[in-house]
Amino acid sequence: MKVLLVSTYDLGHQPFGLASPAAWLKQAGADVRCLDLAVEEFGEDAAVDARMVAIHVPMHTATRLAETIIRRIRELNPAAHICCFGLYAPANADWLRKLGVNSIVGGEFEGPLTGLYRRLDGGEVGSHEAVHISFDKQVFLRPDRRGLPPLDRYVRLIRSDDRRGVVGYTEASRGCKHHCRHCPVVPVYDGRFRIVQRRVVMADIRHLVAQGAEHITFGDPDFFNGPGHAVATVRELHAEFPELTYDVTIKIEHLLAHAGRLPVLKETGCLFVTTAVESVEDRILALLDKGHVRADFVQAASLCRQYGIDLSPTFIPFTPWTTIRGYVDLLATVDQLGLVDSLSPIQLAIRLLVPRGSRLRDLEEWQEHEGPFDEAALSYGWVHPDPSVEGLYATVRDIVANSEEAGIGRRAVFSAIWQAAHDALGRRAPPLTAPHHRPRPPYMSEAWYCCAEPTDHQLARLRGDSGLT
Ligand code: SF4
Repeated sequence: MKVLLVSTYDLGHQPFGLASPAAWLKQAGADVRCLDLAVEEFGEDAAVDARMVAIHVPMHTATRLAETIIRRIRELNPAAHICCFGLYAPANADWLRKLGVNSIVGGEFEGPLTGLYRRLDGGEVGSHEAVHISFDKQVFLRPDRRGLPPLDRYVRLIRSDDRRGVVGYTEASRGCKHHCRHCPVVPVYDGRFRIVQRRVVMADIRHLVAQGAEHITFGDPDFFNGPGHAVATVRELHAEFPELTYDVTIKIEHLLAHAGRLPVLKETGCLFVTTAVESVEDRILALLDKGHVRADFVQAASLCRQYGIDLSPTFIPFTPWTTIRGYVDLLATVDQLGLVDSLSPIQLAIRLLVPRGSRLRDLEEWQEHEGPFDEAALSYGWVHPDPSVEGLYATVRDIVANSEEAGIGRRAVFSAIWQAAHDALGRRAPPLTAPHHRPRPPYMSEAWYCCAEPTDHQLARLRGDSGLT
């Protein structure tokens, strides 16, 4: 039976979310074709003869982009069983069903997708299946990356000396032990995390290196949810590939709790750690239930500097509780900590998204701001009570979008936003501190944050890349 696996967008990475189920489905006997619309054009022939089409929706942008592909596949192949799987599928189940999706899979998806394939092959599946969220402790297979475009079609690492490196993406765990209120992982995993067996992670890394990867991005929501597993994995990675570098995502709380493990990261080739700071205001951090305060961020930045690991912070600067003064304080903190060059400018333009299932909706402080659910944006709407904050948001967003198109550097963009924020505050902008005398931090050529709302221009570009405008 023919199965089409589709990815619409995966932050510029070759999609693990297709390669892993492809291995399971092929082992079960499926005739699998993968289609990554981030780098490939939509081919009608692939959709016409597939009996099962499974579309991966791991994040907001991927889900928004899925709408067009679902409609097109439904037109071309009314008999196909369409399944959406991944983090954003269960929360958007009603909307996906309205588009014509037959089944929804969340959590650990490889087993349920294989089960769906077997039932379809045996003629047991009706037109609609219940939402299936699995937390099974799966025994993974090495992802099968045959049939996906080569790694040089994807995101590049820009090293400190401007050399560009080919990036491979893998996962050593999924889910998360924590319950941050705004996080899309929480409504699905609710405090659980699941590991990918180390032998499978290493087999995947070996394969990625053979395909040309010079750097590995571990896409785990938090690499230190299982610190023993994480450290053993990077020790093995480094022993086998001493030249290979990597990056990980670790929350502030874990950076402090496991500070003793940071030297191991440095020794084994970790180039930078992404960390979700979100805010430098303790009140907002408490509302988000982030598990850290401003002082912890300052301490984590200092620890990473001490161990020679670049810290790449992410923020949600525009919330209903943001003030102009607070925004300026965020910029000043980034500057004082020497993180201007480590910060992707999009991080300064991110607006809180509240999807269905968000724990934020339990909060009285949020409820007073909540507007109707916006199906086009897949988020509950909100308008800041202070129009000057909305005005600053629009200005910052324009600065970031225009600079992205014009290829303007991070420090110049930060400087323009610094100026705009001080204009909004009615104060003269003091000079920024000089860049620290150390190499410019490495970064990825694709800078989106998974929860950022894409601009119309970005959506149009991605749809245009796949020929689905
Ligand atoms: S924001 Fe990070 S630490 Fe918090 S629940 Fe989500 S993945 Fe876990």
